Amino acid sequence: MQKYLTEVSFTLDRHVTLVTQTAPIAPETHGGRAKCLQRLVRLNLPVPRTVALSFDTVKAISLGRIPDTGQLLSVFDPDALLCVRPSSQDPDWGGPTTILNIGMNDAACARLSAELGPEAAEALYRRWVQSYAVHVARLDPDAFEEIDAEAPDALARALRAYEDEAEEPFPQDPATQLAEVLRSMARAWESVSARLLREAKGAPVDAGLGLVVQEMALGFGPGESGSGVLQLVDPDTGLKQVTGRYLSQSQGRDALRAGARALYLEADPRGPSLEERAPEAFAQLKEHAALMRQRLRAEMQVEFTIENGTLFILDGVVVPASDAAAIRIAVRLAEDEIITPREAVMRVQPRALSSLLHPQVDPRADRDVIGTGIAASPGAATGRIAFTAADAQAMAAREEPCILIRRETAPEDVRGMHAAVAILTEKGGMSSHAAVIGRGMGRPCVVGARNLRINLKRRQITADDGRIFREGEIVTVDGTNGEVLAGAPAMLGAMLDDAFRTLLGWADEDRDLRIRVNADTPEDAEKARLFDAGGIGLCRTEHMFFEPGRLTVMQEMIFAATPEDRRAALAQLLPIQRADFKELFAIMSGKPVCIRLFDPPLHEFLPSDRAGLRDLAEALNLPVSDVTRRVESMGEYNPMLGLRGVRLGITVPEIYDMQARAIFEATLEASRKDEPVVPEIMIPLVSARREVELVRKRVDAVAAAVRTERGRDFTYRLGVMVETPRACLLAGDIAPHVDFLSFGTNDLTQMTYGLSRDDAGRFMSDYVQQQVFDEDPFHRLDTAGVGELLRIGIERARAAKPEIIVSICGEHGGNPESISFCRSLGMNYASCSPFRVPVARLAAAQAAIRDKIE
Ligand code: PEP
Ligand code: MG
Repeated sequence: MQKYLTEVSFTLDRHVTLVTQTAPIAPETHGGRAKCLQRLVRLNLPVPRTVALSFDTVKAISLGRIPDTGQLLSVFDPDALLCVRPSSQDPDWGGPTTILNIGMNDAACARLSAELGPEAAEALYRRWVQSYAVHVARLDPDAFEEIDAEAPDALARALRAYEDEAEEPFPQDPATQLAEVLRSMARAWESVSARLLREAKGAPVDAGLGLVVQEMALGFGPGESGSGVLQLVDPDTGLKQVTGRYLSQSQGRDALRAGARALYLEADPRGPSLEERAPEAFAQLKEHAALMRQRLRAEMQVEFTIENGTLFILDGVVVPASDAAAIRIAVRLAEDEIITPREAVMRVQPRALSSLLHPQVDPRADRDVIGTGIAASPGAATGRIAFTAADAQAMAAREEPCILIRRETAPEDVRGMHAAVAILTEKGGMSSHAAVIGRGMGRPCVVGARNLRINLKRRQITADDGRIFREGEIVTVDGTNGEVLAGAPAMLGAMLDDAFRTLLGWADEDRDLRIRVNADTPEDAEKARLFDAGGIGLCRTEHMFFEPGRLTVMQEMIFAATPEDRRAALAQLLPIQRADFKELFAIMSGKPVCIRLFDPPLHEFLPSDRAGLRDLAEALNLPVSDVTRRVESMGEYNPMLGLRGVRLGITVPEIYDMQARAIFEATLEASRKDEPVVPEIMIPLVSARREVELVRKRVDAVAAAVRTERGRDFTYRLGVMVETPRACLLAGDIAPHVDFLSFGTNDLTQMTYGLSRDDAGRFMSDYVQQQVFDEDPFHRLDTAGVGELLRIGIERARAAKPEIIVSICGEHGGNPESISFCRSLGMNYASCSPFRVPVARLAAAQAAIRDKIE
């Protein structure tokens, strides 16, 4: 059988083209598979004769205009069986199932019986009838699955089942068979479900489908005959290793489904291999695969068939690799000088990096999903259920990994969150407390898991299916997929390896947007250094006050009756804060550190339950009734829009005074002669220029006092967090009074939409599903609305003060699309939580490269 292409070209028309070295085939007209097959033909690989049908032809087929299949068949050996494969522009967009063995009928069966023996020929025919019935004629699969494939009359029964179900005999004419296959595949592409599926993968609405019709090498018959799949890498790890399977007397991807019956490819102590069975064919196969890697510039999965010892290459697709493997593959291709380092940088999805930084549920593990929510912080962890921060700490002390489950978290839960291996909340959205803190700590976190009912009294959760999980039972939080699983599925460890570092090193060569980190503690700052952050872009100082010992002093300060009492309490906090800042400056050794002054409403530091109120009364030596009254009087209807941020700085100025002093004293203590620390101080929640003037005046006064007391000079930079719409609109008014502006897009999104960041999770999935929002705006920056405010703010600020430094420090600073947008607005840097720094570095580099190559 002549399967190689020897003719220079054969073209029925420009839409139905024999795949030759010179035929006019492009991914945009005939799809990626057709183009890939042409490349294999150009490499003189043994590819069976193939015809490519263009997108236009397939579209026409779906509308009923079937090409002359008799003429199409005339291109092929009249005795050959054919297969048809989908060829979409991007292989990721999928396509209908490949159909094999077209042309099989009574006559072909008789002919093949002589060549292969009746058993093999009849098995082929039966398979074809079943596949045609199910995929082409769309008959009930059950009628065919019931037939015992091993029974001697299996073929006759399949033909009868076809006739019964379809009410006509099985079509014998190959031209009719081919026409029906083409029609069914073209129609399948147009179905609503197929369209939605590919659109979800990024395909445009009008994405076309090409088809390739290929002569089959049978994989059945005398001598060594069979089929298999080969890769030169392990698709899970990306390490160099021949992987895949081969199965004698088989077709298509049978070998991958055959389990123990399949052969290893390379000689392997675990069992027989193709290398031993057919050494020549195997050597050729490896050689072809290496050539494909070199010339197609990717790790390829090679589909091959051996027919009586002769090798055929049927297809090549890019190896479907895991995140870890994708990075190693890209780096090794660049190291082997097959692609450039820049191409390697462009080939890795930024999000793939974040999954490498945390353990993940093994993709091969069984998943017993008991709840779903918003995937707020990636990675997965298994542990025992704990319902309070105190219980989580107790379990951690016993070295029992635990999952902290809360309705929502508050600052007093932070220590419990630290103690837990993962966090799960019933309420919340992408920038609620649990999500922000979970990401900062690198803890897997799922928020807004509304289908899990939490009963704190009974200390249990109830899944949608009624199953109950009690305190102490083991569950797994998968923060990458937003799922909660029962029990402990198999996990894959974090993989921070050389390839990861090499790739980021290459990324940094092109990156022109600086990336800083949001770090509140020395621990975070250490992580930031590990990930090569360019400094701290946001230190939320309030988190420092929740440490044991500090909280009581904080509460004393809040309860102080006079400014003097308040100053006395603050005096106790001063050395603690000074030590915190000094440590941060030391760890960041010369890199900028931007400290945000106190932001949350004061009552967040006060207890809300009876026991807490009693403890507080004891600590302050006050009657419980007094304490309760004071706490109640401080309550606000809408605390996020109440007395917080700079409003506290104006009305209770002693707090900012203390913080400024702690920063300046730490500055002097951490500065070395040749390396002075230049701290950055940031005022939160500003909405008016006068707020900045008032705070600036006091901070300047504190700086002057410290300079005089210590007899040493220092400089500092003062900036504003732009997180109210008004601050964006009045940025031109505010800019002359500050050195920098940092957009707090969490609050800015909340205030622009009028949508509580802590409650959005309740309905966000409904909103996204119904396409009211195309994405959660707390996750990916809303470029149309919030983005417009950013643009206005930057334009007005730069018009008033061209040298002003502009950045983003909301959670969007770690989102790849948002980073690219911020870069396009001309920001100087983006700041994000520690574990997102690598993602941000890669995303920023890709945005810069895209600009350079476009
Ligand atoms: C913001 O609002 O975007 C921000 C960074 O501040 P926080 O999340 O602490 O309110
Ligand atoms: Mg904020």
